[in-house]
Amino acid sequence: MTTETAGPRPLVRAEGVRKSFGTNEVLKGIDLEIRRGEVVCIIGASGSGKSTFLRCVNHLEKIDGGLLRVEDRVVGYRLKGRKLHEQSHNEICADRSDIGMVFQHFNLFPHMTVLENLMEAPRRVLKQRKDEVRRRALGLLDKVGLAEKAQAYPRHLSGGQQQRVAIARALCMEPKLMLFDEPTSALDPELVGEVLRVMKDLARSGMTMIVVTHEMGFARDVADRVVFMHGGRILEEGPAEAVINRPQHERTRAFLSAVL
Ligand code: ADP
Ligand code: MG
Repeated sequence: MTTETAGPRPLVRAEGVRKSFGTNEVLKGIDLEIRRGEVVCIIGASGSGKSTFLRCVNHLEKIDGGLLRVEDRVVGYRLKGRKLHEQSHNEICADRSDIGMVFQHFNLFPHMTVLENLMEAPRRVLKQRKDEVRRRALGLLDKVGLAEKAQAYPRHLSGGQQQRVAIARALCMEPKLMLFDEPTSALDPELVGEVLRVMKDLARSGMTMIVVTHEMGFARDVADRVVFMHGGRILEEGPAEAVINRPQHERTRAFLSAVL
């Protein structure tokens, strides 16, 4: 047995994951394993299924075929006896609270202060104590460099600051896994760096991360692995350096030369 197969079981395991919207098959059998502490960047052209895959991991979309496991739990199903039963809405929400997701658009609650944005889900969903949540939230704001903005409203922050708040808000739920879907695509170029720095620190702290991004510099510096998706399939994957510098597949080469 190699050390790899003898190691701890992966945090995320996708086996032949399929997803269609009507007659449009968007995921055509995705096989992917993410180990604990690993940072995986997913790259690929628009429409290749990257967001849909992330949404399946987080059970915002239901898969049509294959199997998706997070933490040895089958996403969307519960094993009762020897049969799989579809999860109830409450069970889905409970599982989802283990996974943080950061989108292109920050979706902060506009009528709440930054601190209230962070405290909302831990208080309402996890029913945690106010003083405990508040302490954690302030610590996270400090980590993302926004301690002095705790009482500000989102509209008074720059896009980069808002996205850092969105990351801190996701982390305030103490997730086991963080999903990022093009977190810097909507930002002015001069604000991209501050968000990537926060993500880099998070990666260094050992967080397991799946990051859909076109930031190849980030992928090269931070990702353990890069996955190239095309037409609902994984065409190529490997160590970041190898995929970016020596892509094997013609389509990967074409994509990289377009974004680099
Ligand atoms: P990517 O994130 O790589 O750009 P997406 O996963 O967003 O790709 O989309 C892949 C395909 O799935 C696209 O053709 C898109 O139009 C389609 N799609 C995504 N979400 C939906 C939806 N909710 N309903 C119908 N089609 C969708
Ligand atoms: Mg997308």
